[in-house]
Amino acid sequence: DGAGSGKGPASGSASSENPYAGLVSHLRAAWLSGKTRPLEYRTAQLEALGRFLDEKKQEILEATALDMGKPSTEAYFTEILLCKNELHDTLNNLCCWMKDERVDKNLVTQLDSAFIRKDPYGVVLIIAPWNYPIHLFLVPLIGAIAAGNCVIIKPSEIAKNTEKLVAETLPCYLDSDCFAVVTAGVEETTKLLENKFDYIFFTGSATVGRIIMEAAAKHLTPVTLELGGKNPCYVSDTCDVQNVARRVAWGRFFNAGQTCLAPDYLLCTLEMQEKLMPALRAAIVEFFGSNPKESPDFGRIVGDKQFRRIQALLCSGRVAIGGQTDEKERYIAPTVLADVLPSDPAMQEEIFGPILPIVVVANMDEAIDFINARPRPLAIYAFSCDCKVVNQVLERTSSGGFCGNDTLMHVTLSSLPFGGIGNSGLGKYHGKFTFDTFTHQRGCLHRNMGLETLNSLRYPPYTPQKQGL
Ligand code: NAD
Repeated sequence: DGAGSGKGPASGSASSENPYAGLVSHLRAAWLSGKTRPLEYRTAQLEALGRFLDEKKQEILEATALDMGKPSTEAYFTEILLCKNELHDTLNNLCCWMKDERVDKNLVTQLDSAFIRKDPYGVVLIIAPWNYPIHLFLVPLIGAIAAGNCVIIKPSEIAKNTEKLVAETLPCYLDSDCFAVVTAGVEETTKLLENKFDYIFFTGSATVGRIIMEAAAKHLTPVTLELGGKNPCYVSDTCDVQNVARRVAWGRFFNAGQTCLAPDYLLCTLEMQEKLMPALRAAIVEFFGSNPKESPDFGRIVGDKQFRRIQALLCSGRVAIGGQTDEKERYIAPTVLADVLPSDPAMQEEIFGPILPIVVVANMDEAIDFINARPRPLAIYAFSCDCKVVNQVLERTSSGGFCGNDTLMHVTLSSLPFGGIGNSGLGKYHGKFTFDTFTHQRGCLHRNMGLETLNSLRYPPYTPQKQGL
């Protein structure tokens, strides 16, 4: 049948009502056979993922450039290098992560064996978005394979060149009994979700996240939801303005702003807005030259629909830097909007494009109130030379992750859990956290058959002597 073929619905027991039933049951049979459990099997599949990244590197860079003009350095760093680091970390530690974990025992279980078995969930589904179209399915896939699961991967149909590359080439590297790529738009994904999975790992928007959770609830399937939102960035009056501008501009304009973790808007005083403007202008020129449209290091918007949505946000506050657009190329210049009001269009939704609004606040307390009055974001950023200020923002707010005095960089540490809270998501991954996400911690007690006299104390009849114990 079509397992691993990447050509969409499998035949076999598939019907027009449930075209994926055959594929899912094929994977389930492979999982039940126990094939994915040995360390050697998992290691071999993970090493094959490494070969996929090495051998298809050039094609990945080309496909992501075609999809969204992704600069090759950015593509190499996020789609190849970060994935290889995760692979390396997993291969180095898997043997230890997989081991049964011995736990404390009480008096009556002294002769027994009590342990946590690291069981795979079974057949899992990974659904990915388009903005980092390799990274966002591959990093979860590493953990899912490491934990011993069978996996269906559903890349985004929006990054169509990357989707095609993945569907055509990835199955050649992996065991087709256990791993399959399904290419699907909304309609087909809806059908795919009718099947029972043992775990669903979704990365994308909060709107679709709700749809996924509803579909999962029908089968009581556990989920991880990696969602987006508006990540605030507070800049205090005491900071090195040029360094702040560089670090903020890098995080905001990386991948042309299409990053779930990007600082979505700045909060600062009117004075700081005045100081930041020339520094941000200088940083943009330093990064992309005086005409960013000609820079090989500045990307494009992924599609026409997304372009028009972002363009409509430009009428917020006052365009202080940039603002130029070209629909044919889906180009939006690195833009900074000043004096933006909370009621402006740019503050109503996640921007997910190269626009940085600045909202003026009176002080840190007002910035914290502003943040806490809104849904909890994936990340909060705070810049200050004064540690106390950074710590105050950390203490008095809530978000998926936090980075003081920089943007995005916390994502590069696989020792840190990555994930949202509230509207920005549910669950966490990266490094060992990914392995744990795809692992069921099975509590096990293996009793000794001896010492029956001691055991008889808990058996009826509950005589007065036993009750007194
Ligand atoms: P999206 O939610 O539109 O799509 C994500 C995936 O869901 C795609 O594979 C798509 O085919 C599928 N999908 C879309 N509609 C569906 C439906 N009705 N039923 C079932 N599946 C459906 O998101 P996107 O536009 O691809 O990505 C942008 C969003 O993802 C942003 O909100 C961004 O913040 C978020 N994001 C989050 C992270 C994270 O790690 N937290 C990373 C990247 C992107």
